[in-house]
Amino acid sequence: MDSKRPSSRSGKGRSTSKPQRSGGKRRSSGGGGNRDRRGSGGGRSNHNYIPLPADMMVHEGVELKTVEYHAETKFADWPINAKLKSAIKAAGWVYPTEIQEKSFEHVAALKDVMGIATTGTGKTGAFLIPLIDALLESEEPFQTLVLAPTRELALQIEDEFRALTLGMKYNAITLIGGRNINTDIVNLKKRSYHLVVATPGRLKDLYQQGKIDLQEASVLVLDEFDRMLDMGFQKDVMFLTDKMGERDQTMLFSATLDKSQQKLIDHFLTDYQTIKVSSGEASAEHINQSVHFVEPDNKFDELIEMLQQPEMKRVLVFAETKHRVKKVTKKLNQAGISADEIHGNKSQNYRQKALNAFKAGKIKALCATDVAARGLDIDDITHVINFEAPTDYDTYIHRVGRTGRAGKGGEAITFYDK
Ligand code: AMP
Repeated sequence: MDSKRPSSRSGKGRSTSKPQRSGGKRRSSGGGGNRDRRGSGGGRSNHNYIPLPADMMVHEGVELKTVEYHAETKFADWPINAKLKSAIKAAGWVYPTEIQEKSFEHVAALKDVMGIATTGTGKTGAFLIPLIDALLESEEPFQTLVLAPTRELALQIEDEFRALTLGMKYNAITLIGGRNINTDIVNLKKRSYHLVVATPGRLKDLYQQGKIDLQEASVLVLDEFDRMLDMGFQKDVMFLTDKMGERDQTMLFSATLDKSQQKLIDHFLTDYQTIKVSSGEASAEHINQSVHFVEPDNKFDELIEMLQQPEMKRVLVFAETKHRVKKVTKKLNQAGISADEIHGNKSQNYRQKALNAFKAGKIKALCATDVAARGLDIDDITHVINFEAPTDYDTYIHRVGRTGRAGKGGEAITFYDK
């Protein structure tokens, strides 16, 4: 690995050859394309619901050619600050993941980056490690803004930042819907932040109330950018990034690359490096995928029967709308199957509790809309059931990719009306 990296983003550090933070690349914002691939997610009305063709969801899982990545280096040998090495060690990380190793020199050199890597491949660390190192080396603190499509993903990013800055005095804040906005306002007044992680809606709200100055952020990360640039979020993302003004660096991460978004990607990135990781997860090729044809009237009964099978230990059930998710959850509980729900109508507190109960094995089924489930990093989900088939393939891949994580096999079953 090339060990050259800037020792400071402030332009006042030791190295003279490093890129300067200010006076950096100027990017215009605003505008952008206007696609209409799907609705805002989770709440789309049923009259334009056209599920994917059934045969697209049939696939016999092939054993994952454990594309085990052999890192060339250990974090201990990386050219990073000793404090950061200690925090990484305390997190129990010894070797970098592929995305971490391959992106390090580019992120550290302030290059714009497009990372094609799914949640679970260590992509959060891929942008956080060089950023934290730059903070440690920098004489002038700088702020990174991470926009993520779901509250859960935003919280995971903040957690990881906290773990990787253990023993350092850096401040992070997560601004997400479903929590009291007044608490955000009080917290924003209290201090300045090195990392702001946000979902677009809440951040826009806070900006419009004059509670946050987006000019302070000089680095932008769009996590799950395919979703962030999709119709549901695109307008807000454009609005917010427009208010940021000058940026030193922009990084986009997503499991899938949607060619129709290329124009938008070009709008955000300048002279960028694409880093693709070879994990088979994005194609879900190691997951057994099948379609279960059902009479529409028997759908609930068939789901209940399926969930009573002993191998169904930890099951994520997807439906298209909040209303349907609610109904499925109710039916399952009535049938004695422990289940809870996460979707946009539930408070963040509720969603987090349901998620924790699911992670801890206290409930068997977690019923969700796409909007709530995207990016979730939960180990050992034995099955994903699409109680309702999704309408596009990207969503399908994201859903089934919740099982079969960390190289394990997984099962995805999609209900399809006869
Ligand atoms: P992410 O893809 O960023 O959501 O990360 C997935 C999981 O992998 C998280 O639980 C991370 O804490 C963990 N992780 C990330 N990088 C490493 C690493 N180099 N070694 C071990 N675990 C890691």
